[in-house]
Amino acid sequence: MSGAETVGAAAVGAAPDLRGLRVLVVGMARSGVAAAEVAVRRGARVTCTDLRADAPVVVGTEPVYGAHRREDFVGADLIVVSPGVPARQPDLAAAIAAGVEVVGELAFAAAFLTAPILAVSGTNGKSTTTHLLGQLCERAGLRTFTGGNLGQPLSLAVGQDLEMCVVEVSSYQLELPGGGARIPGFRPRAAAILNLTPDHLERHGTMEAYGAAKCRLFAKMGPADFALVPVDDARLIRLSAQLPGRRLWLGGTPGVIVQPDLLVLDGVHDPGPLSLAGFDLAGAHHRENVACAALLAVCGGLWRHDLRLAGLTGLPHRMERVAVRRGVTWIDDSKATNVEAALAAVRGIGPGAWVLLGGRGKEGAAYEALAEPLRRARGVVCFGEAGPGIATVLEASGLTPRRAADLDSAVALLDQAARDGDTVLLSPACASFDAFTDFEHRGRHFRDLVRGLPT
Ligand code: ADP
Repeated sequence: MSGAETVGAAAVGAAPDLRGLRVLVVGMARSGVAAAEVAVRRGARVTCTDLRADAPVVVGTEPVYGAHRREDFVGADLIVVSPGVPARQPDLAAAIAAGVEVVGELAFAAAFLTAPILAVSGTNGKSTTTHLLGQLCERAGLRTFTGGNLGQPLSLAVGQDLEMCVVEVSSYQLELPGGGARIPGFRPRAAAILNLTPDHLERHGTMEAYGAAKCRLFAKMGPADFALVPVDDARLIRLSAQLPGRRLWLGGTPGVIVQPDLLVLDGVHDPGPLSLAGFDLAGAHHRENVACAALLAVCGGLWRHDLRLAGLTGLPHRMERVAVRRGVTWIDDSKATNVEAALAAVRGIGPGAWVLLGGRGKEGAAYEALAEPLRRARGVVCFGEAGPGIATVLEASGLTPRRAADLDSAVALLDQAARDGDTVLLSPACASFDAFTDFEHRGRHFRDLVRGLPT
């Protein structure tokens, strides 16, 4: 039996009736625009608001741009909030206090979808795992939407003829999970939290609040839905314990265990092994990611024999092999903007690589955590604004990193130092904003530098 035959529409209630309702959309980036379009199509009277005066205008809506009007908030029947806008924003808080139903874009979009939702969250690895899961579903023959926090907002799935929705979810999108009179809660058929390490604490305050926000992913589940949690994360285990959904373990039983050449699935309708032959994304953490993707797929109703792991592709700037020059392999992991992501990359790449660290440091970043795995590296080069600080921390741990002013001179230095058979890994553990517009810009610059090296 193929996946397409076995995965039917989710048992959901009728889509909410928005005709004649006053819907306010707050924050007009891509997800706000897409949500406003859904609300217009559903017959609502839609007002859009954004603090930017030049935000895009959606046909059929009233734009209130440059400033918010409190009366739009407290007078609305329903407010849809983009993930960029915090729930404690004063106008939103006033609306919530006045009893207005306020939901995030994700919950809003999900209310109109009939295909089951498979959701991926976590601090690191969300985009890659979502991308892997999307490919698995498509290769199994399902009409699949892949998006959410990654790529297209979920509202763009509304109205499409779909058999599966694969959704990356950030913690910001879970602040307002729905569950009010009109919009039922965001309820994935199966959802995973890959990991939880300090990040985004400026928004969430504490690790406990950050973990609780992530666990809202499971809050609206029913007893037959699946909640996937890392077997070794005590905080997530505790925070998810009282929530609905059947818990499965990432790295445990029932759940999925990663062996050298095999995944072993248990606690699902099709338990058993799944070969990793032909799955060749660099880094051990990608095997954890594909394990999570495979388990989610089976939780979503697919069968093991539907899942083809060989030849799955990764995303740009995540452990991406960008060039081999004179026997040296250069890897772009520019997306590693925090210590934990770089840690996973350095551990996953194995001993003997050159590692490039630096950029704009994040407050409180624990670079010393990198010292242990870096002992087995061939060398470390620290560059950019945070470079000297990182080098000092690593020196205090007995390492002898080299220093370079910027990424250009770091690449030039390594072009001299690296030998045939070596690997160079850019996994900077820092944001890119000291010299680049974003991590993609940094990654492209790295790739261009490397491809410009003499062959
Ligand atoms: P996210 O969408 O959560 O930021 P990405 O897939 O874009 O995740 O990966 C971000 C960074 O985290 C990359 O540098 C990648 O090497 C690293 N990473 C990927 N998967 C994992 C994982 N399972 N654990 C830790 N780090 C990971």
